[in-house]
Parts: sequence; structure tokens; C-alpha cells
Amino acid sequence: MSNFTATFQFCRVPVSRCYIVTSTIIERIRYGGYELWNIAYVFWDCFCCGRRKCLETVLVPSHPNDSAARSFYNEPMSRLEQIADLEKRFLLPTYNRYPVGFERGKGVFLYDFEGKKYLDFVAGLGVNALGHAHPRIVKAIREQAARVIHLSNLYYNEYQGQLAERLCQLSGFDRVFFSNSGTEAMEGAIKLARLAGHKAGGEAKCQLVALQDSFHGRTFGSMSLTGQDKYRKGFEPLLDNVSFVAQNDVAALRAAVNANTCAIVLEPIFGEGGILECSEEFLRECRVLASQHQAALIFDEIQCGLGRTGKMFAFQSFGVVPDIVTIAKPIAAGVPLGAFLSKEHFASAIAPGQHGTTFGGGPLACRVALEYLAIVEEEHLLENVVKVGGYLHEQLQELAGKYASVREVRGRGFIQGLVLDIPARPLVEQGLAEGVLFNVTQDTVLRFLPPFLLEEKHVDKGVRVLKKLLGKKRKKAA
Ligand code: PLP
Repeated sequence: MSNFTATFQFCRVPVSRCYIVTSTIIERIRYGGYELWNIAYVFWDCFCCGRRKCLETVLVPSHPNDSAARSFYNEPMSRLEQIADLEKRFLLPTYNRYPVGFERGKGVFLYDFEGKKYLDFVAGLGVNALGHAHPRIVKAIREQAARVIHLSNLYYNEYQGQLAERLCQLSGFDRVFFSNSGTEAMEGAIKLARLAGHKAGGEAKCQLVALQDSFHGRTFGSMSLTGQDKYRKGFEPLLDNVSFVAQNDVAALRAAVNANTCAIVLEPIFGEGGILECSEEFLRECRVLASQHQAALIFDEIQCGLGRTGKMFAFQSFGVVPDIVTIAKPIAAGVPLGAFLSKEHFASAIAPGQHGTTFGGGPLACRVALEYLAIVEEEHLLENVVKVGGYLHEQLQELAGKYASVREVRGRGFIQGLVLDIPARPLVEQGLAEGVLFNVTQDTVLRFLPPFLLEEKHVDKGVRVLKKLLGKKRKKAA
């Protein structure tokens, strides 16, 4: 229905306010395998009396942004339209993009192809913790690219060991493996837990316990631990020997973990799952059970780690130390890099040749990651996350008190969620018009993962826009 309304606007057929247009596509016309036109029956139903006023057959462009349609109407395509059109023809249709594209960024702002400025509360889904074009990151990339970008893991590079040492100092862990992404960090962590499990209890010690509604990535191991059907469906069979318990259900956890468990895997704060925190009681019980059964306690801190909670590692905010922790997203300020860190007891289970990667831990990514960690420390960004994150929480709480469509505020620091009673995507779309980037997860949760450089004045701007978009205020109690 909305497609056809859009098509009609495009065709410039005036549609009276009191009519709604309903259509049935009866034929698609293709040209060189490329869908050009739809023939549609168009019914105009009177909005007031419900009577069908008119019936006709029209030729309509299959999509208002198709290049064929634009040239038919002699309208030049904008830069965004050209890019979208090209993607539509040549990319696997995996992404449902918003109608906006960006050319450059600076600090907490992004600029689209027309130069319009947007305040960024998304930060590349948690990657751009230093915002955009941080001068020290730009310098490090320039310098390193001019020296050497990639070296095989057959050889030593200057920065991999230094970065591993720094991460161990910051975490209290013993050893590190570098990957290229979050999901690969998870794969490595599971492999390590299986190896250690087999050593401790033979092949039967291979069971993995994960949490319902979690998210760990899109490769087969990570997907097998992800407790949401929408990510798993259609890809079965997944890994065997995985059981799921509800977050914070201590009794279910106790029932699931046994001598054959090789790992308990969890995100201390569900990111994609809607910004839901594990309780300290639950995490402590995970720790006790993992130790009791010689299983690895694995924390996936790919989204919530590396500063987002106000501590460098999220486990430091919860006071429970895992055996293995996975990280990725912001570690190399946008250059792809992930890692898992392990305590010696588990790390010693692996031998040369049992795991590896072509790209992971390259000199460019590791040098930039060292710079990331230095900047976070020297610019006191964790303090900023705590201070401005606290302010963001207060402001969101105020919205929750005032607006009927807001149910609750979740999370802490710079990983927070505003839970709505209404679909959040339209708000994100309207936010674009207002020059603010919001993100939605789980359909009704506005997720805030801003750059660590965010200031209170930026929070004020975001909240001002939200006030415009949230609709009705709550009725005051009599
Ligand atoms: N784990 C968590 C908690 C995540 O949020 C993500 C990505 O959003 C992943 C794993 C997967 O990371 P990547 O997309 O880098 O593979």
C-alpha cells in the first residue's frame, strides 16, 4: 500500500485526500534481467463512503529510484540514488538500509552527500568510539600505511605483541589471539574452550551453555550460541551440544551446567538483544559453576566492552572475572580487528597450527589499536563515558516519566536503551530529517551507542529531537 502511494507521488497523479489507493500487481516486466515496470490494477476507494470510485490499469515503475524510471521521467538521479541503484543491482540483498549515505565525519558528527550534518548516537554500531576522523588515528593510519599494512602471521610484526601486552595489563588476562571481527573472536574462544574441555574430561566434555535472546555473531559457531530463532532459522543444522537458559535464571543455569560442560558463554549486557544486563548474582553463579566443573566462563564483550560501561572491560563493572573474554568493535577505531583474551589455564590448551588467520593482528590494525587505547587513557574518555552516560540516563528517564510511548530506560554509560511501546524504526527515520542518527534493536528499543566524545550539549540536542518524535505525553495523575 505505502509502495503504491509512493509510486503515485512519483507519477505525479494527484490523489485526493479522501481516497486510498489499493493495487494488485499482475505482471512484472523485465529488461535484461532487471525489473523495470509493474502493471498494476489500481482501485481508488473512497475513504469516506468506502465505495470503489475508479478502476484502471497503469504502468508503474517498479521502484521510484530505479534508474530506468528516473530516465523515463528525465529526472537526473541524485548521488544517493545512483549509489542505492547500483547496490540494488549488484549487492546481495542482506541489508535494509536507511535512505541516507555519508561521505565524511568529524568528531560526533557525520555529513551526507549533500553536506547535511547529523549527530551520531550510533557510532557505527559501537565501533567509532573515538568519533570520526580523530586526528591521532588519522596520523597513525597514514604513517603505518606508508610503512607496512599487512604482514603474514608467518612473521613477527612490531605491534602485535605490544598490543597483546597492553590488553593483558588492562584486563589481568594472560594471552591474546587477534582476529578480524567479533564473530571470529567468538569462534576462536569456542575452539579454545573445546580444546581445554577435551583435555580436562575427554571428548564428552564439549557442551556449551548460552543464553536465550543473546547475540554472538553470524558465523556457524557464534550463530549456534545465539539464542534467537530469527538469526538461526534456515541455517540448520547448527552446532550440537548447545543448551540455552534464560538470562538471570539461576535455577535453570544450575540445571544446565554439568561435568560435560566445557563453557558458559554470555554477554554481560545484551546489546542486540535490547540492552539487558545480567544480574551480578547470575554472573557470580556462572563463575562458581564454571570453576566447579572446570568449564570456561566466556564473556562476549564485543559490544559492551572496551570502555562503553565506563570501565575498560565490562566484567570490571560487574566484579566477576571470566576465563576468556572476546572484544572487537572499537578496538582499532574502525580498522577491522577483534580478539579473545584468555587466562593461562585455558590458553595452554592450544598448540601451533590449531588456530590462525591471514589478516588478524596485522601491523596497521594493531598500531591503530595501541593508539586507541592511548587516546582513551590520555583524553580521560572513560570518565566522560561515566559523566555524560549518567546525564544521558537521567534525560532518558525524564522522557520515560513524561511520554506515554516510553516504557523504560536500560543500560549504563554509553550502552543504553530507551524501550518503547511503539515500533522504533519510524522514529529513526524521522530522526534523519532532524539531523540525528538513532538506532533501533528488537523493533521497539532505541539503542544508544554514542562515541565516547559525546558531550552533555549533544545529549540535549538528541533529547530535544526525541521530544518532538515521541508523541503523546502521559496524563498527569489527578
Ligand atoms: N557479539 C556481540 C555481542 C555483538 O554485538 C556482535 C556484533 O554486533 C558480534 C558478537 C559479532 O561481531 P561482528 O559483527 O564483528 O562479527
